[in-house]
Amino acid sequence: MDIFEKCRQFTAAKEAIAQGFYPYFIPLDENEGTEVVYNGHRLIMCGSNNYLGLTTDPRVKEAACAALERYGTSCTGSRFLNGTLALHEQLEHELAEWVGKESALVFSTGMQANLGAVSALVGRGDYVILDKDDHASIVDGARLGYGKIERFRHNDMEHLERVLQSLPEAAGKLIVVDGLFSMEGDLAPLPDLIPVAKKYGARLMVDDAHAMGVLGGGRGTAAHFGVTEDVDLIMSTFSKSFASLGGFVAGDEDVIHYIKHHARSLIFSASIPASNAVAALTALKIMREEPERIARVNEIGARMRKAYTDLGFNIGHSVTPIVPIIIGDDEKTFLTWKLLFENGVFVNPVISPAVAPGHQLLRTSYMATHTDEQLDRVIGIFEKVGKMVGLI
Ligand code: PMP
Repeated sequence: MDIFEKCRQFTAAKEAIAQGFYPYFIPLDENEGTEVVYNGHRLIMCGSNNYLGLTTDPRVKEAACAALERYGTSCTGSRFLNGTLALHEQLEHELAEWVGKESALVFSTGMQANLGAVSALVGRGDYVILDKDDHASIVDGARLGYGKIERFRHNDMEHLERVLQSLPEAAGKLIVVDGLFSMEGDLAPLPDLIPVAKKYGARLMVDDAHAMGVLGGGRGTAAHFGVTEDVDLIMSTFSKSFASLGGFVAGDEDVIHYIKHHARSLIFSASIPASNAVAALTALKIMREEPERIARVNEIGARMRKAYTDLGFNIGHSVTPIVPIIIGDDEKTFLTWKLLFENGVFVNPVISPAVAPGHQLLRTSYMATHTDEQLDRVIGIFEKVGKMVGLI
């Protein structure tokens, strides 16, 4: 059997492209942050993770350009060998201080941070315990490790406890959850989760990709709940509020030191260039100095949740600037996406397996830099399209 046969059989995406009905890999010609251009068509971006709107901030751009001039375009090697700059270490110190941990380690993406940290820690005989809605990079990190994977129903602490009870008492255990779940905008119940983890001697890692820069004064979900001490590892990415590319994990110095010397995605992959490190450092400085940005993105989130709920849309359990419009059916999700796109709003359709069947949704997300006028237009277009497709 030709190993490529499956590629020839895979026609679903090609058919959708041919019908002009394909919502993924859309090549944008322009991206000014809150507005983007595709094929001459201007859209309001409500599907980005640029929560603080810093990707186009002149200070971030200028600092990144200056770093590019000074250090060149690439580090051409991994952190382990020739690819560590003093800038990476400065960023690690500042991040550790920001999230309230002893130490931090910068990876080349958030995905690589999860792959490396989880697989380095969860060895033979250990267990990694995941929420069913955890991000794919956590699941893949768990798969890469030599330990066993257990899963519990989304945010179901009773189920988590039953899973933990069933595991050998002496085995090492790591629970990994998203702090802010990326598709539905709800939070992990950390104050309820921590006592359960402690009761069974499990360590806790929180993926704060979406909460960093947004919750807890920008310091993430652990800070939001006031439980930083009890979250053993905090992971995040630079590809969202930090307006860059890269990722990190923070925790006790000895644990980070161990990960640094065992995470294969760190040791065998090139480090982020200086321009990315400086973009993240500058974004962090702005987070520190301009808390009003963080307040603004949360106000916008509250406003949009209320507007969609008042119109009659189902937004699930979102309490953040990630606001899902839950539709629950593939075809209707794609149709609604298409009509929104044609009317000038960019959102992301999400179907199974990224969300549970029945939870197919349009993921909308907001930026501190969206204007009230843009948001009014978005709400108006949602109302029009929602009525056209019979969602409201
Ligand atoms: N964790 C979560 C929860 C994410 O949403 C993402 C990115 N979508 C990642 C990790 C990976 O981050 P990166 O884009 O930096 O690889």
